[in-house]
Amino acid sequence: MWIDGGHHTGPIGGRPLISPRDGSVLTTLAAADTRTLDHAVASARAAFERGTWSRATARQRGRVLRLWADLVEAERETLALLISLEMGKPISAALDVETRAAVSSLRWYGEIADKLMDESPRGVDGALALVTREPIGVLGMITPWNMPITLLTWKLAAALAAGNSLVVKPADQSPLSTLFLAELGTRAGLPDSVLQVLVGRGSVVGAAMGRHPDLDGLSFTGSTAVGKGLLSDAGASNAKQLWLELGGKTPVVVLPDADMDAAADAIAWGITFNSGQLCTATSRLIVHESVQEQLTVLVVDRIRAKVIGDPLESSTEIGPLASSTHRSDVLAHIERGLDDGAVLVSGSADPLNGPGWFLEPVVFTHVQPQMALAQDEIFGPVLSILSFRDTEQAIALANDSVYGLGSSVWTRDISQAVKISRCLDAGMVWVNCFEEGDMTVPFGGRKQSGHGADKSIHGLEKFTNLKTTWIQL
Ligand code: NAP
Repeated sequence: MWIDGGHHTGPIGGRPLISPRDGSVLTTLAAADTRTLDHAVASARAAFERGTWSRATARQRGRVLRLWADLVEAERETLALLISLEMGKPISAALDVETRAAVSSLRWYGEIADKLMDESPRGVDGALALVTREPIGVLGMITPWNMPITLLTWKLAAALAAGNSLVVKPADQSPLSTLFLAELGTRAGLPDSVLQVLVGRGSVVGAAMGRHPDLDGLSFTGSTAVGKGLLSDAGASNAKQLWLELGGKTPVVVLPDADMDAAADAIAWGITFNSGQLCTATSRLIVHESVQEQLTVLVVDRIRAKVIGDPLESSTEIGPLASSTHRSDVLAHIERGLDDGAVLVSGSADPLNGPGWFLEPVVFTHVQPQMALAQDEIFGPVLSILSFRDTEQAIALANDSVYGLGSSVWTRDISQAVKISRCLDAGMVWVNCFEEGDMTVPFGGRKQSGHGADKSIHGLEKFTNLKTTWIQL
């Protein structure tokens, strides 16, 4: 673990960390318990009260974050290697996507830290009113294994720029990259105990964070089921603030006039990148019936051309799934799809032979809206294709989900694009593209995909408390 500015062995859990690449044991994990959590929170609280970070000037905090970004950039190969080994992401994606996201999050929040202004409303007679933003206090952060560094640094950089202290619990499958990131933070000048990293089971230490009376807030990225449990625990304990980034079932609506090659490229990438283990994976293709056959062929051709293999090879595009249990879950979804009557047109219902948890991407046609394939988040490389006759039906199909995270629309008609975008009940709509964005725009969902987006200035403001000071003159 990383506690009080250094490595800390904690209770020995004896749990192996198994690499999905080949099933080998990478290391043995510690297992934080509630006493470890209490210690980590208490010293994060003491650091907050000391004020070396919480009351440092925004300029000082920004400088540390930018130096941290430089260190991550210099150590990007080590960080990428740890990610690739622990959760199986192809090394090229670990380098290009994960380490780049970490650098840009730390740098962006580091750069804007001292450019933010508080407010003083005009027109107040006989008084001076101030509306200021203050750090909240000690915040918990629980993260998943699929994008372990990208998702953590979006929230961590914003919350630290605002002056909070943090207790982070990474997923059991991906603690090594988070520990290394924390070590680089200390090297960059983050005061001890401002960032604590606990390694331990979600059901033990994660759940205890939800109930902890001295955490002022909790930012969670993970499954909808766990997020709902945290909402109850937050309410039953100290009514802590909670920000949730949960599951998704991205609809991709393709109209007949769309650029089919560009759409096929994006759909094939979106369902195979990270082996489909993406909250925004292009898992639901909703295509006009007149072009369904054409687009299916284009997508399948592209998916089949992708290189599946050892994540440490630079040419690999699709690595293994993160664990054998997760692969079994994905295979169960494929079996269920076959039982429900969907037609498997590419891939296989069997895992790939050999060491590691590999699986060929699967494409289903004849998917009906009520089928589990159209409703459940599978979190694997499984594409479900549905068709529509008119735009109203396309919108109804796209919104027929408990989730509302990403969505995508493909058409050359700008009026149709705007009309459909406005009707989509999702936190993000990508028009004629997929998964685009940068640090200036929020990333988050609605409905059971959560609330309280990360990234952008809004992602920082949520980690502050508003204070009104009314000065009578
Ligand atoms: P998960 O099982 O919910 O785990 C996520 C994190 O929560 C892990 O650190 C896990 O720890 C911890 N956890 C597990 N049980 C807990 C409990 N009872 N109380 C508190 N924490 C607990 O999700 P996952 O399977 O790792 O990740 C996949 C899910 O994350 C998908 O639903 C995906 O859509 C979602 N996701 C959402 C976004 C987004 O931005 N909206 C981004 C990425 C992923 P352990 O690993 O130790 O169990």
